[in-house]
Amino acid sequence: MAAKKLVILGGGESGVGAALLGQAKGYEVFLSDRGSLKEDYRTTLQAAGIPFEEGQHTEERILDATEVVKSPGIPGTVPLVQKLKDQGTPVISEIEFAARYTRARLIGITGSNGKTTTTLLIYHLLKTAGLNVGLAGNIGDSFAEQVINDTFDYYVLELSSFQLDDMYQTRLDTAVLLNITPDHLDRYGYNFQNYVDSKFRILQNMQPDSSFIFFQENQPILDGLTKRGPSVRRLPVSLETQPVPGGYLRDGQLTAQCDNRTFQIAQDETPLRGPHNAINMLAAVLAALSVGVGDEAIAEGLRTFQNAPHRLEPAGTINGVQFINDSKATNVDSVFYALSSMTSPTIWIAGGLDKGNDYSQIEELVRRKVKALVCLGADNHKLVAYFEGKVPVIYETQRVQDAVARGLALGQPGDVVLLSPACASFDLFKNYEDRGNQFKAAVQALVNSQQ
Ligand code: ADP
Repeated sequence: MAAKKLVILGGGESGVGAALLGQAKGYEVFLSDRGSLKEDYRTTLQAAGIPFEEGQHTEERILDATEVVKSPGIPGTVPLVQKLKDQGTPVISEIEFAARYTRARLIGITGSNGKTTTTLLIYHLLKTAGLNVGLAGNIGDSFAEQVINDTFDYYVLELSSFQLDDMYQTRLDTAVLLNITPDHLDRYGYNFQNYVDSKFRILQNMQPDSSFIFFQENQPILDGLTKRGPSVRRLPVSLETQPVPGGYLRDGQLTAQCDNRTFQIAQDETPLRGPHNAINMLAAVLAALSVGVGDEAIAEGLRTFQNAPHRLEPAGTINGVQFINDSKATNVDSVFYALSSMTSPTIWIAGGLDKGNDYSQIEELVRRKVKALVCLGADNHKLVAYFEGKVPVIYETQRVQDAVARGLALGQPGDVVLLSPACASFDLFKNYEDRGNQFKAAVQALVNSQQ
């Protein structure tokens, strides 16, 4: 029988991993990327003897595929993908492809915000407990490549809506849905419901005894649950009520109850600040409890957790003014939580590429907490127009050094300068990491110049 033809669209971490897995499973693999590949991915493919092309998509060869693995970065609406779908060729994500070949239990995390923090935390809790666990999805190494040897008992998977869109049969044992707020609407026909539906795909194929952990004060999640009525074990997380089983925050204490076990810790004992991180921690603790992790490992894991950079990351203090790098806050909801976490007068650095922001959600918080707004974007028009008259001082710049210097000049000892942009970074920076790194470097340069 002729080998099945697997075509991979997009040669990043997930695409190259899927190509390797496809080859290991006996497919005839071809990888196609319209851009250029990173040198080490090129070398990997060459060493494995996997044919690939760069700078183009040879349609004839792609349309000849038995199945296609598409990178989450490629919209499902591009003509080539449409043609594949029209002719009935299955187009799936790397997660879907890899999940076929693992026997491990899968814990998946999605949400508009908090995915990375919660994924890393669940991974850390399971590792602290000594479980044999892998980390994959939107973060770290390719899931498909790890599945080639399939040595883990658990995988913790960060799932973006783009990955969920191309998942069909994958069954998660534990799913976490943190929140759904408008984001990426450009990829969903500017229809919020399409985006909500995408997030709810995380529930598909779950069994009645699998755990579904979700934040209950998010209206789109509640509406979606009412509409769908999934038969899964529900473990809600709340900041307002005390669901049992479930998780909640009360008087600074995090409490999670599941399988007749109760875990408690004071948020102060953990390094994660703010109400949003209480949600993330409660979700992570419930996920850990749902796979049987013991209390001591959970407590130790929470205390020793180190979050990824660019998420409310302390960046230095000058003359008593504290700088915080929250460059990962690329939408309004994450800024809402960042500002909610601020306990001092705040000089807020925001701006960049606007993805259709509605600032009314944070207007009241901004009025209360922000003493000055420093707009750092190529086009600051919308931010300035919205906050004019609502924030005492507004300043505009296109240079991060200038934004930091202005933040310092406007600050009093005890104040905070918070970079939490609410926007994508691509107008002035390579990506959010680059923006955060430049911010930290600018703060460091100022620290050095003061010495
Ligand atoms: P994601 O991977 O979903 O982008 P991250 O953990 O990287 O999430 O956090 C992104 C931003 O969202 C950070 O700026 C953080 O302050 C904010 N954030 C984190 N958790 C939450 C949450 N549960 N709800 C809202 N905002 C959050």
